[in-house]
Amino acid sequence: MGLKEKLAEKKKQFEIQWKKLNKKKVFGSLGVVMALSAVVIYLALNPDTVSGISTKTSPSKELSSFPVPELKERYGFVYNYFDVSEGTIEKNEFLSVILDRYGVGAAQVDVLAKKLRQLPNRPTLRVGRDYTVLSDPETKEAEYFIYEPNAYRFFVYDLRDTMRVYEVEKEVEKKVVTNSGVIESSLWNAIVGNDMSFAIASKMEDALQWSVDFHHVQKGDRFRLYFEEDWIEGERVGVGKLIGAHYQADGNDYYAIRFKNDNYDGFFDPEGRPMKKAFLKSPVKYARISSAYNLRRFHPILKRTKPHYGTDYAAPRGTPILAVANGYIERIGRTRGNGNFIKIKHDKVYATQYLHMNGFAKGMKKGTRVTQGQTIGYVGSTGLATGPHVCFRFWKNGKQVDHRRQNLPPPDPIPESDMEQFGNIKDEIMGILQGLEFRNKPKEEEVLDTLQTTPNNRPL
Ligand SMILES: [Zn+2]
Repeated sequence: MGLKEKLAEKKKQFEIQWKKLNKKKVFGSLGVVMALSAVVIYLALNPDTVSGISTKTSPSKELSSFPVPELKERYGFVYNYFDVSEGTIEKNEFLSVILDRYGVGAAQVDVLAKKLRQLPNRPTLRVGRDYTVLSDPETKEAEYFIYEPNAYRFFVYDLRDTMRVYEVEKEVEKKVVTNSGVIESSLWNAIVGNDMSFAIASKMEDALQWSVDFHHVQKGDRFRLYFEEDWIEGERVGVGKLIGAHYQADGNDYYAIRFKNDNYDGFFDPEGRPMKKAFLKSPVKYARISSAYNLRRFHPILKRTKPHYGTDYAAPRGTPILAVANGYIERIGRTRGNGNFIKIKHDKVYATQYLHMNGFAKGMKKGTRVTQGQTIGYVGSTGLATGPHVCFRFWKNGKQVDHRRQNLPPPDPIPESDMEQFGNIKDEIMGILQGLEFRNKPKEEEVLDTLQTTPNNRPL
């Protein structure tokens, strides 16, 4: 359905609702007129009984108590004119199973299924998500099935003779907010305990991951955040962009300032250097170091001292292994000791190697260009390995070194020409962050700004 048809459909729907509304309204006002006329006629016919009227039914009382139904509107429908039935998708509940309960026959569901198959991004009913069925109160026929795959959008299945499906994006209110936390037991508790969605934690990690080791968050670490929240119909449904973050650990301050102009869009430190370093701190997210670089290590399988030229990151089998920097694949293959491995050459000085992979990511072969953070393979235990982990080797000038002890080259800072613009934004963001107190309990809601976003209704 094109946008035009979509709009026409919306208009039609609105008109139908409007007609239904007016039918009742017209009927309602007609009722009032009739009641009033009756009183007038009654008074005209019985001019002596005026005092008697108030003891029976007062016309003014009749008027003021005339029931004006409160209109309940949702998904663009006036609920008052439907039988509304709400439910949650349960295990093994398919569209046909649900619709069958509302008298929609198999033949109709077949037509609907065919239409659904033509949709480029058709909805998949998932266990636990909500649906609503709107039926005609008189005929009891189900007219609409509405499915909400997430808080941001819903699908309307028009079950009337047209049998079509369309998607509607809801209007999102972006609230610009601040919050802070002090770590007592865990990052999770500090975030959720202070009434933030945990989704903001991963945004903070993404912004600061090159400076802060989030695998080793300590009690007493403190943070302040300046970010957007998504609100729909008065409920917080998610987090939007992170604008600024301050993390304090061991007396060190780490700031991430979001800066966007024609040339840049990313996080920078207060000096205008990109937060994103030339190398990621580790090739696996949320992994723990199970064995550090150690030239005098006792090998668990060989049972003798053998230098460990890498850093082992233990992670569940299948966890993505990421290229720590841009480069190209210099070697890829399998040996008895290394198992499946990849070696990436980054420049004249640096190369990195990843061992014991369960398998390689699609498209990996000798000469493939990879970018920082790209998945190159998956954690496994091929070769000489006791359990699933990635042995990460860091090569500098042809020698394997401990990457955690390297002073790696800093990336290029924002050029002089953009520094004034960056400086203004930095001052504003740092000012807001530094003005926040570190708290370990929720605060009163304080919204700095509210931006309405126009829903971008995708016609299907
Ligand atoms: Zn190793």
